[in-house]
Amino acid sequence: RSKDQGRNMYQVYSPSMKVRSSQSFYLERDLRKAIMNNEFIAHFQPRVNSSTGKIVSAEALIRWNHPKLGLVSPGEFIPLAEETGLIIPIGKWMKKRVCEQLVAWQEAGIRLVPISVNISSQRFLEKSFSNQVRELLDYYQIEGKWLEFEITENSLMRNEEYIIQTLNELKDLGIKIYIDDFGTGYSSFNYLKSFRLNGIKIDRSFIRNISGESENAPITTAMIKMAQHLKLEVVAEGVETVEELLFLQEQNCHQIQGFLFGKPCSIDEFEHKFF
Ligand code: C2E
Ligand code: MG
Ligand code: MG
Ligand code: MG
Repeated sequence: RSKDQGRNMYQVYSPSMKVRSSQSFYLERDLRKAIMNNEFIAHFQPRVNSSTGKIVSAEALIRWNHPKLGLVSPGEFIPLAEETGLIIPIGKWMKKRVCEQLVAWQEAGIRLVPISVNISSQRFLEKSFSNQVRELLDYYQIEGKWLEFEITENSLMRNEEYIIQTLNELKDLGIKIYIDDFGTGYSSFNYLKSFRLNGIKIDRSFIRNISGESENAPITTAMIKMAQHLKLEVVAEGVETVEELLFLQEQNCHQIQGFLFGKPCSIDEFEHKFF
């Protein structure tokens, strides 16, 4: 149950596990209803070029509009969705939502940016994953270059032939692949050699206090250097302050995402602010 999403694992094994398991009974029931009743919405957060400030991509982040609780964040239900397999329909919903958005922008003649989607390792490791994605692109008549996938290190832990094949097929479709939460997974650096990736997104825990007296500065600097040598794009997540931005600019970190440039927001707000 905890093979995915290192960070979420702590929730599953938290001391309040007993409490959580009775809670999760209701949560699971509600989550099944939510899928039937279409209670999910996508919020979007800009990713920008760190030197020009120009928006380069929009990350789609799921929210659950619970009839009683209001907006529930993914941290509250993605782990359970992964345990119960409900992540499969939820993931499908999100990819459709994103394709519909791209079509809407295309039809409105809006200057497009690619949309970045988080892919749970369970979905990514399905043998039919790239075929499903191809069918979706065909159906919506969208070019793959408008899609980016964020996967975690845990998705690449097994250096198996079919994972390489999936990545190659996605790349052939023009879809860019980023490692999300880079630095927090369990895998070695080995996968950086064997897989064709476009970039890494340094986890926001490494960005906190980066210009202060923390170990984060040397670690982040090293991650940025390594990415540059490997010709990978490097994105810093969770940039909240100007100090953090200045530090990252100095290190030539290509791209930035975080509250400093924009919090995740509804599509209306996003279009209003960034287009
Ligand atoms: P993530 O993909 O690493 O997304 C970044 C998270 O950091 C988002 O939380 C975002 O709101 C938050 N964030 C962005 N900038 C800042 C900042 O400057 N400061 C702080 N403190 N936080 C910032 P969110 O939306 O709650 O999503 C949490 C995680 O849930 C995501 O982490 C992702 O792993 C997962 N998730 C979200 N949407 C989906 C989805 O559609 N499918 C799957 N499988 N997972 C999703
Ligand atoms: Mg992400
Ligand atoms: Mg993540
Ligand atoms: Mg992340």
